[in-house]
Amino acid sequence: MAEERSEGARRYLGADIGGTNIRVGVVDDGGRILGEARRPALAETGLRAAVDRAVDAMLEAVATAGLTTREIVAVGAGVPGNHRSREGICVYSPNFADSRGVPVLAPIREALNLPAFMLNDVAVQTLGEHRFGAGQGCSQMVMITLGTGIGGGAIIDGELRVGPTEGFAEVGHMTIDPDGPFCGCGNQGCWEALGGRDAIVRRAVTKIQHGRQTAIAEMVDYRLGSITPALIGRSADQGDAVAIEVLAETGYYLGIGIANLIQLYNPEILVIGGGIAQAGRWLLEPIIRTVRAKAHMVPASTCRIMPSQLGDDAGIIGASVLAAMEVAQLERKRETEVARTEAAPERRKPNGIAAEELPPDAPSELPPGPPGA
Ligand SMILES: [Zn+2]
Repeated sequence: MAEERSEGARRYLGADIGGTNIRVGVVDDGGRILGEARRPALAETGLRAAVDRAVDAMLEAVATAGLTTREIVAVGAGVPGNHRSREGICVYSPNFADSRGVPVLAPIREALNLPAFMLNDVAVQTLGEHRFGAGQGCSQMVMITLGTGIGGGAIIDGELRVGPTEGFAEVGHMTIDPDGPFCGCGNQGCWEALGGRDAIVRRAVTKIQHGRQTAIAEMVDYRLGSITPALIGRSADQGDAVAIEVLAETGYYLGIGIANLIQLYNPEILVIGGGIAQAGRWLLEPIIRTVRAKAHMVPASTCRIMPSQLGDDAGIIGASVLAAMEVAQLERKRETEVARTEAAPERRKPNGIAAEELPPDAPSELPPGPPGA
């Protein structure tokens, strides 16, 4: 089997450490998944324990692929929340009981003896969709994921942007309705408070409490706390008017946010991923209707709105893309250093002192002069 795989292909481990499930895959540089493993996230036990389970899954995935960790180039991981990714530290991930300041990469590097890299989960999925999914060949792409919250990622001029504090993913917290429902973040009328999982369920519950007849209520035996977006989606497929209305209202708010993103980023493509996107046309049609009505200066026609192509695999494939990117960057840096060392005798300061002879605290460049000087 192993011999049949493309000779010389590089293999990476991609980990999707979600709040519910951990998925890990061995992915080659062509985006093919060679082996995978899953574990429950058990978010209530904290992020550190989830990382240990992810390491366990990584070892299983490597074995399933018929490989050893020595044949893996590097590990990439997508984790929900805010991070200091360069340091490998999770700053805060609301999904996990204990996540503040938890090291994510150090335990992975230690256990597998491999370089490891991380980013926010949606940033990682954006990389996956851009390299191997719906956004292939696009230099301007925005991705949003619809789930418990709304996440986002942006490719600008062909490169993923994360922002100086890695805040690019927080599109879910742009204000859409200043008088709207309160959001978990403390603000009122955030996009995810209007288009996230809870908002969808709340719309259905309110309609039922107002006496509307719908199959949704019967499907959960009138235990309204058991209503899920998936159930609403299934009811819509069966022609349930209330379910269709709930998704149309949600699609309206999603469309407002998407029209805003199109004005901001002028993307060629906007990719919609995440579990709730599986509600399909019941959500997509009202989204597109709203975007057409609201996007004028940058018209809706300039941007294709597409469902994710990689679906559930976007996380592990994207994480492998992250690992490959980071390794390539390190290799380029090393090559530059080697070239610089070889050219060292010629590299002299204008005053004839070789850079190496300068005291370590000497500035390598003159500080910039005052403005206008
Ligand atoms: Zn918010």
